[in-house]
Amino acid sequence: MKCVKCRDERVIWTSDTFGFAVCRPCPICNKHGQAVQKEIEMFKDQVKSNATKTSKKE
Ligand SMILES: [Zn+2]
Repeated sequence: MKCVKCRDERVIWTSDTFGFAVCRPCPICNKHGQAVQKEIEMFKDQVKSNATKTSKKE
């Protein structure tokens, strides 16, 4: 599903009070923080399995 707000990037770019570009979680995808939280968990698992693979190689 393509999100119209962030185009499935899960973050939106806005500028803060100083005019710096900052990325924030997409308010549509990140309603209640669920979608992003799930993806972060998946990412953590990936990192974990990658770390296991790396340590086995050594
Ligand atoms: Zn979105």
